[in-house]
Amino acid sequence: MNVLFSNITAAILFAVIFQACSSPVPSDTKPQSDSTIYYSANDFKTVKKTDAHVHVDTYDSAFIMQAKDDNFNLFTINWDDVNEPPPMEDQQKYALAHRKNFSDRLEYATTISIRKFNDKDWLDKTLSYIDNSVSHGAKAVKIYKVIGMTLRDKQGKLVMVDDPRFDSLFKYLEKNKIPVVGHLGEPRNCWLPVDSMTVKGDASYFTAFPQYHMYRHPELPSYEDQIRARDNRLAKNPNLTFVGAHLGSLEWNVDSLAARLDRYPNFAVDMAARIVHLEVQAKSNWQKVHDFLIKYNDRLLYATDLLIDEKMSASDARKAAHETWADDWKFFATDEKMTSSQFEGSFNGLKLPAEVIDNIYRNNAKKWLGIF
Ligand SMILES: [Zn+2]
Repeated sequence: MNVLFSNITAAILFAVIFQACSSPVPSDTKPQSDSTIYYSANDFKTVKKTDAHVHVDTYDSAFIMQAKDDNFNLFTINWDDVNEPPPMEDQQKYALAHRKNFSDRLEYATTISIRKFNDKDWLDKTLSYIDNSVSHGAKAVKIYKVIGMTLRDKQGKLVMVDDPRFDSLFKYLEKNKIPVVGHLGEPRNCWLPVDSMTVKGDASYFTAFPQYHMYRHPELPSYEDQIRARDNRLAKNPNLTFVGAHLGSLEWNVDSLAARLDRYPNFAVDMAARIVHLEVQAKSNWQKVHDFLIKYNDRLLYATDLLIDEKMSASDARKAAHETWADDWKFFATDEKMTSSQFEGSFNGLKLPAEVIDNIYRNNAKKWLGIF
C-alpha cells in the first residue's frame, strides 16, 4: 500500500529554527571600506520582511501579531494530504478569515487535492477549485509531495509530477500566469542511512518513522527520480513561474541547486525549513555558500515553514516565531559565530550586503509570487 508521509518539515523543524530582515534606511548601517551597505543585528525590526512559507492553521492571531512586532508579512500555504490534518477546506477557512482581518499582512496560496485523481472529472474540478481560490485572492497554487510519493493510479503505479496526466493542469497554470509553489520529494537525508544524515532532526524523525525513511524502501522512487521528475516538469512548462519549496529539495548542495537555477530561468526557491542546510554547508565552506547567495540573490525567498495550529498556545507561537526569525537574521545579516542544535560545530554568519538581504527577505516574494 501507499507509504504514508507526514509533514516532517512542519512538525520537526518547527521546533528548531530561527530569524529574518528589510526596511528603507536602517538606523545603524555602516558603510564598510568597500562602501557596501550592511545591516546589523539591530536592524532586525526596522527592516520590512516577508516569510514566504508558513502555515497558519488556526483562527488565533497571536502569530500574526508577532509578525507585526517583528516587521514581517506572511504567506500562508495550504496543502492537501489525507494523512496530515487539518483538511485543505479548513486551511482555506483560516486563510480567508485572516485575509479579512489582516489583508495588508497576510497572503495565501491555495492547493489542489489528488484524492480523486483517478476520477474522470478530476481535472475539471481541480481547475474550477483553483479559479475559485484565485477569485478569493489566492496568489499561488501549492503542489505537494504526495505527487511522486503516495499518489497511485488505477493500476497501482506511483504517479510522478512529470506524468502526462498532469500536463493540462500545468499548462493551465502557465497560461494563466498562476505561480506554483512546488514541494516535491524530500530532503536527500531521507534516502541516506540514519548515521549519514546531516541534521539531527532528520535522523530522529526517520528513526521514529521508518515507514517514511526511503533508504529502507529501495523499491520506491529514488531521490534522483524525484528531482528528475521535477526537472522534467520545469522543462515541459518553461514559462511557468515555479517556486521550489524547501530549496527545491536540493538543500544539501548549493552547486546542484545553482545548476538548476541556471538551467530553468523561471525557477526560484524558498528556504523553508532548510536554512539549517545552508548553515551545515557554511560550516565547511563559508565562502561557497556566501557567494551562492550573492550570485542568486534574485532567485531565493526567505521562508521558515513555521506551522501554527490550534493546539499551540499563543505565547508558544509567538516565541517560536520570534526566535526562528531572529536567529535566521543573525545568520544572513551578521558575521557572528553561531551554533545550531541540529549539528555539531560552529559556523559564521554570512553578512550579506543590505541589497541582497532586501531581495531575499522581501523583493523576491513580490517578484515571484506577487505578494506585498
Ligand atoms: Zn510547508
